[in-house]
Amino acid sequence: MYRSNIINFLQRHHYQRVTPRAALIDMDGTLYDSMKNHTASWYRLISEAGIPCTRDEFYLYEGRTGASTINYLINRAWGRDATDEEKAELYHRKTLYFNELPPVQPMPGALEMVSLFKEMGLKRVLVTGSGQNSLLSRIDTDFPGLFEPGMRITSRDVTHGKPHPEPFIRAMQLAHVSPSQCIVMENAPLGVEAGDNAGAFTIGVTTGPIPVEEMERAGAAIVFPSMEACAEALPSLILSLFTTSIDAV
Ligand code: MG
Repeated sequence: MYRSNIINFLQRHHYQRVTPRAALIDMDGTLYDSMKNHTASWYRLISEAGIPCTRDEFYLYEGRTGASTINYLINRAWGRDATDEEKAELYHRKTLYFNELPPVQPMPGALEMVSLFKEMGLKRVLVTGSGQNSLLSRIDTDFPGLFEPGMRITSRDVTHGKPHPEPFIRAMQLAHVSPSQCIVMENAPLGVEAGDNAGAFTIGVTTGPIPVEEMERAGAAIVFPSMEACAEALPSLILSLFTTSIDAV
């Protein structure tokens, strides 16, 4: 099972095999069902700022840092870069609007997914473009014992957010693993692109309105329709990764 996905990935990256030792796991839309709240608070903020936008476009910016999203939208509307003050003020307000919404819940299937990685002996690193404490501070409660204290990369740890590979490369350094020893878990095309550019076997999970084709185009090695389906498939997928290789030419 999954052999053609794996062979395809190995050929594209010129790897002989993937030997998973670490899982690099996104937070919003992957561990938490938080994207509805993020898109609602972004839409409110940007509309109030007088910038024309649609609610669904914010799903496409997922993975970027807040500052990068603000800069992009101000450029689009007003043809100039956002100032540092604008970035700070708008992101602060976005966080306030987010916190006014009903609390987000862990993504169904996410606890099983992370637990399976632990059971199978893979290190776990949290890799998020977010800097919002409201969710980051809940990780230890909602995913107890699954992310060690130092094993987290947030927007504060990187110069370039996703789709730049830097967040995942930093996570690989934290876990002392090479790209071909990693599995990336993502729900957003920009995150998938970052994971694939970092050289990791990137699993895309569609937990929102993003179509499967967008995830494949971004470089997902395989796409699952829900986190529950992904968790169910994970043991056999990891076994297949360990047992599938292409001979060195
Ligand atoms: Mg995400």
